[in-house]
Amino acid sequence: MNKETVTFPFDGKDIYQVGMSRRGLMLILSSPSGAGKTTIAKRLLGTDKHITSSISVTTRAPRPGEQEGVDYYFRSVPDFEDMISKGALLEYAHVFGNYYGTPCAEIEAKLNQGKDVLFDIDWQGTQQLSQKARQDVVSIFVLPPSMEELEKRLRLRGQDSEAVITQRMTKNYDEMCHWEEYDYIVVNHNLEDAVARVEAILLAERHRRARLFGVGDFVQQMKKS
Ligand code: 5GP
Repeated sequence: MNKETVTFPFDGKDIYQVGMSRRGLMLILSSPSGAGKTTIAKRLLGTDKHITSSISVTTRAPRPGEQEGVDYYFRSVPDFEDMISKGALLEYAHVFGNYYGTPCAEIEAKLNQGKDVLFDIDWQGTQQLSQKARQDVVSIFVLPPSMEELEKRLRLRGQDSEAVITQRMTKNYDEMCHWEEYDYIVVNHNLEDAVARVEAILLAERHRRARLFGVGDFVQQMKKS
């Protein structure tokens, strides 16, 4: 694929310069562990100023170096349960003995300002977000080129013991069975190519008619002149 023909930064010039605006979108990236979604997410966040990462709320204690409002919002269990009962979370889950969730208000504010929000979450979180906000969600499932390659990449990361790699590979297969619930599929043969494909999807979704405001006025104005 010729990268130059499919990627250029979204600067909004085409719509903002003629008085239109747009609602932001929620871009979900999911993949089996080791297929590259976190690396792709980091690349997008580093190169595209129109997208920011979603910051979750959690009840787990901060790890050394983690900052409130940057890595997570750290809350007590009663405070988190209060957020659940008030409907203040778009989705939440109980993972490894702690609560994790996505706060509604902050996401809604960003979408209203025309900013996109990136989510690095699994299929369960994706299901919940899609049910709550289908029209705002764009979901991409990143697949490895093969199970052998996935296992090789997990070994190359050097983070896990053999036993943990075996466990991750079983979980990975289960995770991959949810591919049908996603809007787009990207096979990560190599990082540059996968990033270019994700950028192309994002660029197209930013021009979706349903997300644009002011098109009618713009067209009316042309009729008058
Ligand atoms: P960690 O404690 O290592 O930061 O995260 C543990 C797990 O919680 C990870 O698998 C991560 O994907 C998941 N997680 C983090 N934030 C959220 C969230 O907002 N919602 C859900 N459903 N899972 C989350």
